[in-house]
Amino acid sequence: MKKIFFILLIILNIIFASFIIYNVVNIVNINATKFNKYYYIAYVYGEEVIDIETNNGYDEQGAVEIINDKKIKLDTEDVVNIEKNGTYLVKYKTKNKLYDLYRVVNVKDMVAPNIKLKGSSTININVGSKYKEPGYTVTDNYDEDIKVEVIGKVDYKKKGTYKLEYKATDSSGNTSSVTRTINVKTKLKNNNTVTKTISTEKGKDKKEEVDLKSNSNTTISMSFTNDGIYIKGYIKNGSKKYSIELCDESTCKKYGMAVKDNYYSGNMSLSGLKNGIYKLYVNDNTDKMLVINKLDTMSRINRAKIGNKLVTLSYENNNPKIMIEDFEYEYDILLDAGHGGSDTGATRGKILEKTINLMQTLYEKERYEQHGLKVKLTRDDDTYGLMMGPVDNTNVRRRSYAVGYYGVVSRYVYSNHHNSTFNKSYSGWEVLLVNQSTMSQNDVTYKIVKEWDKNYPTNENHLRIYGRNYDTDALLDKTNGQTYNIKNYYAMQRIPYELFKVITVTYEGCYISNESDYNWYMDNWKKLSEIKIKAYVEKLGKKYIPV
Ligand SMILES: [Zn+2]
Repeated sequence: MKKIFFILLIILNIIFASFIIYNVVNIVNINATKFNKYYYIAYVYGEEVIDIETNNGYDEQGAVEIINDKKIKLDTEDVVNIEKNGTYLVKYKTKNKLYDLYRVVNVKDMVAPNIKLKGSSTININVGSKYKEPGYTVTDNYDEDIKVEVIGKVDYKKKGTYKLEYKATDSSGNTSSVTRTINVKTKLKNNNTVTKTISTEKGKDKKEEVDLKSNSNTTISMSFTNDGIYIKGYIKNGSKKYSIELCDESTCKKYGMAVKDNYYSGNMSLSGLKNGIYKLYVNDNTDKMLVINKLDTMSRINRAKIGNKLVTLSYENNNPKIMIEDFEYEYDILLDAGHGGSDTGATRGKILEKTINLMQTLYEKERYEQHGLKVKLTRDDDTYGLMMGPVDNTNVRRRSYAVGYYGVVSRYVYSNHHNSTFNKSYSGWEVLLVNQSTMSQNDVTYKIVKEWDKNYPTNENHLRIYGRNYDTDALLDKTNGQTYNIKNYYAMQRIPYELFKVITVTYEGCYISNESDYNWYMDNWKKLSEIKIKAYVEKLGKKYIPV
């Protein structure tokens, strides 16, 4: 741009040359014989047109006039008021007086206003309660009054998510905006919602709200206790006295329930009940209504060993149904080869945990069967296995439900895994136990751990039996034999125990992520499996047959 201007000026001067020459000749006293060599140029230093930010300073660079070879620096008397927006002409008086040279200086506000929301950027209100605008604050580097436009509307009478945009514009046209989200939610009367907890694969819980307002006799949770079922539910009319009735075709057993704020809860002892199928009723002394299940399918409890009975919970038209029968073990050992299908477990390059888990589990199954033991597998190929249904993310976690379901009728339950961690130096085995289980419930595992310690290179001291504190995530070493009354961190320990009262042990063989650990393990895994097999075989009263 500057170059073009410069060239233009030369061209202009060539055009005006004769005019200038004849008129300027007296001033500069140029020899008429040199007229054809006369030239004149004038220009400003820097840009001819400049934009500067308000209050940001203006640096006067000056201009120059060249007559033949003589360079004359030009000054100006004009002042640019940097505090006031506007267009300023800076005039440079040339010596030749034929014309003046100008620079155009635009003092502008180029900085957008700063707008901030008062209150939260997300506001939740109930349908019908008016939205109160908390407002905003706005500042600008130049303007005192800034125009703010609020774009969008909140219909507080209609459920939905609304967005309000707060657009601030200064007098120079600079804009900035912020957005607020307003969620208009269905109003729930009487606090009749419950938070349903859904277990996820990693053992963490996801919370979901369940609206109970239309149901007057709902189950919210049912869990097995040592002698029966603990039930919690919701009743619309909480002022009356209630009881829960467990009825088969001929008789009913009544359980008084404590009612507080429309919630009832209590324990239903199943001891003394004869085998059969029972239905659950809510009785408010005038009406007897079937209990409606409000549990997530995944959280439904299937069965547990209560005393010497097998109690199975199922649903008929969404009404809980309880089956009581004599308990009998169906399997000696339930073996779970961890992961499978598109769930690979730990990996390092082409090494996949699911494959190693399966290889080891199939080997162990065969060895147990050589001892005349009855073994159940959750999978025997590269699939998700038992009870898994179509493969999707939701179903991945169902493996631990399958372990619980079959584990109830198995004397011992364990899951084979192999570890992986970001720390490549980690090596060795790891065993996970159900936190609530006791030393004596894990005596086989303790025996195995002792033997593994002797046979596995113990250059790492992080080898231990542990559980995790569910709330603090703290690692709890259980080798001291203490029982921790906390939730289990891993889904494979937590779900089978909490829903089925099944004690699962997870054996993690080596660290796939550590090449040398993995290489050592690949040469020795059968030796470690044999230690395991020997311990379980002997615990189950058989004589161990070496390979
Ligand atoms: Zn695993």
